[in-house]
Amino acid sequence: MPDLLRAAWTTTLLRLLAWLALGLALGLAVGRPWAGLALAALVALGWQARTLRGVLRRLDARQRVTPPSRRDAWGALASLIDRGHAETRARRRRLLGLLRAYRTAAATLPDAILVVERNSQRLVWFNEASTRLLGLHYPRDRDAPLAKALAPLPMARWLAGGRNAEPLRDVASPVDPALRLDLRLLPYSDDLWLLLARDVSRLLHLEHMRRDFVANVSHELRTPLTVIHGYLELLDGQEPAESAPLLAEMRRQSERMTRLVEDLMTLSRLEGNEQPPDERVPMPSLLAHLIREAEALSAGRHRIREEDAAAFDLRGAARDLHSAFSNLLSNAVRYTPEGGEILLRFARNADGGAELSVRDTGTGIPAEHLPRLTERFYRVSTSRSRDTGGTGLGLAIVKHVLGQHGACLVIESTPGVGSVFTCRFPPERTLPRETASGTAGAGA
Ligand code: ADP
Repeated sequence: MPDLLRAAWTTTLLRLLAWLALGLALGLAVGRPWAGLALAALVALGWQARTLRGVLRRLDARQRVTPPSRRDAWGALASLIDRGHAETRARRRRLLGLLRAYRTAAATLPDAILVVERNSQRLVWFNEASTRLLGLHYPRDRDAPLAKALAPLPMARWLAGGRNAEPLRDVASPVDPALRLDLRLLPYSDDLWLLLARDVSRLLHLEHMRRDFVANVSHELRTPLTVIHGYLELLDGQEPAESAPLLAEMRRQSERMTRLVEDLMTLSRLEGNEQPPDERVPMPSLLAHLIREAEALSAGRHRIREEDAAAFDLRGAARDLHSAFSNLLSNAVRYTPEGGEILLRFARNADGGAELSVRDTGTGIPAEHLPRLTERFYRVSTSRSRDTGGTGLGLAIVKHVLGQHGACLVIESTPGVGSVFTCRFPPERTLPRETASGTAGAGA
């Protein structure tokens, strides 16, 4: 027990004892000591009860309890209660200060921040940027249903996704269609959601500029390259013997540049169109075409096989899918030493979708390179890629095409054993195959 409390407790006991002794003395004086003691005890009890009632009343009325000038246990109790109150007040002030600071910070953020009540999907709070980016106004939109307050945006469908809702990318702001927004939903408690809207107009503008720049440069390079290529063709067979190796190298390099320009243009085109055409891609003819191309590239150096085990076609952009699959096959040919095997397989997968895989018994890829393989110009071995006529853009094209078709690329590889590149398509990208007598076979 701290000194202050011990002293208060001693004072209280001494006073009580003195009071009882006084009662006893007065009792003795009138010849009735027990009566005197009992009376003094009763008075002491009554006084304690009255003081306790006073303390309880003041606590109930949220008033300060007796000034802590008394030195007995009641004084100590009063000062303890007073200290507790002072601490609570200080804590509340600190919390309020923090809350105000957070609110001010949230209010001045350039991104729109909205707090949404999860069950009713009503707006609880929003910051100033929400007015600029989403057209919300206090007090009009406070408590308004979110779907109504942001009516032009596809809110209802998006909110239905709840915790799993994918971010909404590049949507037009209800205030100004030129303002492009990214929306994210963060369920941060059981009852509340945080909705973040970010102005990405500038980013998108820069992205467009980058894309246009690459597309324009590639386009501009195409004409001079065609001319150079043409002249080199003209010289074919007419050059003096000593300059033959020189011209052969020039031809190889100009062909490489042409392939590079073509791949860059393909990538720009793919980046430009978000939604691929939704046409039927007949797989038997596509697979046969791919095999013919691979055989031509291999020139008899590999054993190339085809396995068509899915009785359906794909839905999407035939030209882009052909370009993606042919990149995988040309990689398999280029990175598999002579005598190796290549298997092109189209099959149904477990979730009802389809998968096209290219398996080779080639050089394989060390695991640490796999995550970065689809980046532009990423190569495991630059010299081997160049020697075999690679541009470093093949897998970037594959990734883009698959992304547009809602598909994904899975790469498995063991160095020295071989690789499998698998394109997985969801069920909605498959169609029952058409036969001569009509539609047949399994499908989505
Ligand atoms: P490149 O034109 O260089 O082949 P890609 O984007 O098609 O560019 O491939 C990127 C890199 O991935 C290649 O440089 C190569 O190192 C590796 N790679 C791709 N496919 C295979 C494969 N079937 N076997 C071994 N390595 C591969």
